[in-house]
Amino acid sequence: MEAGGVHRLSDPADGRPLLLAVDPDPDALARITAELRRYERDYRVACIPSVEAALGQLEGLQEEGGRVALVLAARGQGGLLGEELLARVGSLHPLAKRGLLIDFGAWGDEETTTVIRAAMAQGHIDYYVLKPWNEPDELFHRTVSELLHEWRRANAEGRRELTVVADRWSPRGYQLRNLLARNGVPHAFHASDSEEGRRILEECGCPGSADPVVVGPDGRVFHDPTIEELATHAYRVPTALGEDDGEYDVAIVGAGPAGLAAAVYASSEGLRAIVVERESIGGQAGSSARIRNYLGFPRGLTGGELATRAYQQAWVFGTTFLLMREVTGLTPGGEAHVLEVGDERIRARSVVLASGVTWRTLGIPSLERFHGRGLFYGYSAADALAFEGGRAFVIGAGNSGGQAAAHLSLYAERVTIVCRREHITDTMSRYLIEEIGAAGVDVRQSTQIVAAEGEERLERVTLRHASGAEETVAADAVFALIGAEPHTEWLPDAIERDERGFVLTGGGEHMFETSAPGVFAIGDVRAGSVKRVASAVGEGSVVIHQVHRHLESLRPAPRR
Ligand SMILES: Cc1cc2nc3c(=O)[nH]c(=O)nc-3n(C[C@H](O)[C@H](O)[C@H](O)COP(=O)(O)OP(=O)(O)OC[C@H]3O[C@@H](n4cnc5c(N)ncnc54)[C@H](O)[C@@H]3O)c2cc1C
Repeated sequence: MEAGGVHRLSDPADGRPLLLAVDPDPDALARITAELRRYERDYRVACIPSVEAALGQLEGLQEEGGRVALVLAARGQGGLLGEELLARVGSLHPLAKRGLLIDFGAWGDEETTTVIRAAMAQGHIDYYVLKPWNEPDELFHRTVSELLHEWRRANAEGRRELTVVADRWSPRGYQLRNLLARNGVPHAFHASDSEEGRRILEECGCPGSADPVVVGPDGRVFHDPTIEELATHAYRVPTALGEDDGEYDVAIVGAGPAGLAAAVYASSEGLRAIVVERESIGGQAGSSARIRNYLGFPRGLTGGELATRAYQQAWVFGTTFLLMREVTGLTPGGEAHVLEVGDERIRARSVVLASGVTWRTLGIPSLERFHGRGLFYGYSAADALAFEGGRAFVIGAGNSGGQAAAHLSLYAERVTIVCRREHITDTMSRYLIEEIGAAGVDVRQSTQIVAAEGEERLERVTLRHASGAEETVAADAVFALIGAEPHTEWLPDAIERDERGFVLTGGGEHMFETSAPGVFAIGDVRAGSVKRVASAVGEGSVVIHQVHRHLESLRPAPRR
């Protein structure tokens, strides 16, 4: 460990990533130094007093390609301030996590409060960190560990529980990685032409494989698996019904935030519940790089993390899950409803539709042919890794577009938001506009992408301004986040919908009941819903109360 006056942070022979703490206060620095000792096995820990010296060292480290996992900096007084250092770290080492060290109670100081809020809004820090007070100070360690956990998750080396090796541009490889990321499955990805990728392919007996290869926790090798094989055999989630599944009190269609919340409340209140999900848990939220407005998570959390926690919570309470399976039909009945899932049937005394929405497609043929090879609908945090140093475009100026652009800017060399509207302020929240501004995201208003070119993958796009002026520019990726359509085409006429296909509710006794008694709709699929994670979760809890009332009105369930 380097402390006090030792100021040389780079050491090419030392492969450990750097964990750096900077605090000009000698007493605080001594306490931080003592606490950070426990990380020395895996990180090169350095604790130094000078903010200026830290900046110089971090600049040197960037030139050498050294890895930085976490920088903690106190504000200090005069000269270069800690928050300014952390803002610079964002451009020098974009993947490093950053925490502003503050004293206990400093939130009562107006200037510190303003600095923290501004730094969070501009994405200059991940969070504030209370300086250690006790020895050991587990509260301090909790924050440090969370930041390191996030860093490791985004920078997985070598093998993980699941390791994917694939061509960087292969749509199949992308599909597998996306599935794992959205389901919160710990995994590492290596491009098949990288040193590590080649080594793993040789080790598992498929050197030079053109198809994606997944190595499981027990060393089992899956050669170009389907997503169902991967789900069933590699991370073992249920994709078939049990032998004697009988009748459920409630069947929930969709495992987005609304469906997962309904599952947690149903199972925790003693109802026999099943959730059917055709893709990944988490729904749209699963693709969010950081949800910052969900109650109880002041630092924000990834949609994948939220979905995994909710899934585990429902599972522990006893919910049955059927994943990677699509509900294709519903026959409403008086005492029981029947859901069609392939050849199988699920009988349930009530049904909760939580099937959400899907992103609209662009319909530009020259761009559409790069779907999965440069054109992506929606955005997943896992996508960004493939575009490190590249040029990315985000179409859509809603909050989801802003979030995607802010996250992409950590990896891509240049990120541009393209929007038809004249003013991005019409559709994007102020905090995100500030964040993308600080991240250097370019915004092209009154502009559309009208064409695309490339050989194997997307290479160029043509932008057209409202004035008619056109420009063809280099492009590695286009992420389209342009509004959504409900998943309701499979529903029978008995379930009334509005002209856009959203399910109508509230005509009868219960607020979330559809036109078919005992069939409820919640979350984004419901006409008039607020398109937010928290409201979807709220509706998921309220609907179970209404399900109870409905079940009470039926004859008693058969004894099980
Ligand atoms: C990139 C992005 C970022 C976002 N960020 C935020 C944010 O920061 N804060 C916020 O509050 N909101 C955010 N949102 C919006 C939020 O994610 C949605 O409002 C929320 O996910 C809606 O939840 P839901 O459960 O109703 O539907 P969805 O999340 O759409 O989930 C529906 C699920 O149903 C499944 N399904 C559909 N049809 C079937 C079928 N026939 N059979 C089986 N399964 C089916 C789908 O596969 C899907 O998993 C974001 C959205 C996106 C896309």
